[in-house]
Amino acid sequence: MTKLLLAVLAAVALCAAVLVGNTARVARTAAPVAVTPVSVVVDSAGAIARLAASVTLPTISYEEGTQAPDSAAFRALHEQLRTGFPLVHARLTRETVAGLSLLYTWPGTDSSLAPVIVMGHLDVVPVIPGTEAEWTQPAFGGVIADGFVWGRGTLDDKVAVLAALEAAEGALRGGFQPKRTIYFAFGHDEEVGGSGARAIKETLVKRGIKGPALVIDEGGVIAPGSMVGTNGAVALVGASEKGFLSLQLTVRGAGGHSSTPPEHSAIGQLAMAIAKLESSPFPLVLDGPTRAMMERLRGTMPYGKRLALSNLWLFGPMITKGMAAKPSGAAMLRTTTAVTIVKGGVKANVLPIEARATVNFRIRPGETIASVTERVQHVIGDSGVTIEAVGFKTDPSAVSDPAGRGFAAIERSLREINPDPALVVAPYLVVGGTDSRIWSELSSQTFRFLAIPVTADALTRIHGTNERVPVGGYLMAVRFYDRLLRNTDGM
Ligand SMILES: [Zn+2]
Repeated sequence: MTKLLLAVLAAVALCAAVLVGNTARVARTAAPVAVTPVSVVVDSAGAIARLAASVTLPTISYEEGTQAPDSAAFRALHEQLRTGFPLVHARLTRETVAGLSLLYTWPGTDSSLAPVIVMGHLDVVPVIPGTEAEWTQPAFGGVIADGFVWGRGTLDDKVAVLAALEAAEGALRGGFQPKRTIYFAFGHDEEVGGSGARAIKETLVKRGIKGPALVIDEGGVIAPGSMVGTNGAVALVGASEKGFLSLQLTVRGAGGHSSTPPEHSAIGQLAMAIAKLESSPFPLVLDGPTRAMMERLRGTMPYGKRLALSNLWLFGPMITKGMAAKPSGAAMLRTTTAVTIVKGGVKANVLPIEARATVNFRIRPGETIASVTERVQHVIGDSGVTIEAVGFKTDPSAVSDPAGRGFAAIERSLREINPDPALVVAPYLVVGGTDSRIWSELSSQTFRFLAIPVTADALTRIHGTNERVPVGGYLMAVRFYDRLLRNTDGM
């Protein structure tokens, strides 16, 4: 008995030593990269006015097939960029691709170096009809008030296009010429599939571009630490993005009079299939960019959390369960299942001859359109339910390497203009989609980040009401791009 007790005590002591040892090792490796702060001069009033002016042009992508884009608005935006950034337009070549997208080429002094691609998109989503009056400032007014630039595109994504060009204009004014060729790739239809970005990619690939040294697009922002359980702010740099798949479930019924129904009508049979899907969610997996994010964040967390995150071999299941308690946390850990449309039946006393549901899946890296479809078939397990993919679909992007030179350049550029030692720069999984996914197979340095500090509340304004960017936040983005354009030299 004593021997057994001793053995147990020894095992507990060993376990504790491992836990504490792992935690200490993490604390030592978590120190941020030290950089010297750099001051970047920006024509602040001009920059803000140019962003505001761009918002007044309704470059709207309407829901697929409902309404054509206003090409005059896009052309007016092209013209506004031309007059707003004269040096950029004198020194860089600009091409119109796929009708309304823009590709700028800024030739580097060393054509043997892999290029850099700075992405953004010119289109915006519409304002939901009927919600116009809820806007404090008009969505397409381009109003500067209360410390914000207001309107559609101020977070998604004219903000990135204008900030990148603003930085390029400033750098050119200062005589900067990059070593690597820099492309600005601005698609015109990111919100409805991104054909413009794909056409730009095809153009560049035809010209011999193989693996860009860095691709940067929208996606992450500087978020409050409270969103991820830390104290300081955290710069979330998207290292991968989820895939997208909509499956339509269809059940055909015999129809007939509702006075003599079968055990399950088409609607009932469809409802059972939906219930099975919801009660059998995809597994939670803490790996890839989400795991990398937690590993970056843990150094700044209180000891208990740090100990748990430093010993995922033991606490992994507990941590994933805790994260998954919130929908935003669960989305980072699993392929999500969202039943978004149901249709069936026409009259109270008529049995439906058909019932349909659309289920939208956001696929985590590690799974595919094929594996998700297969699992859905298996879970439903009913040959009476037809399952077919509808509309836009894409596999998850490849996962970029946060230990690479592109990520390092992003981190360095951010720390140079934001020398807050508590700021954590972490990779993460983008749960939405961006145009940059098309480059992820060609460059393991494809990242999604915009250097603007936002609140949790601001994130709901993206595609929502009262989209707006703080003036200071926008100027930070301009400074960030300035540093990034220059830091591509040292990559
Ligand atoms: Zn966007």
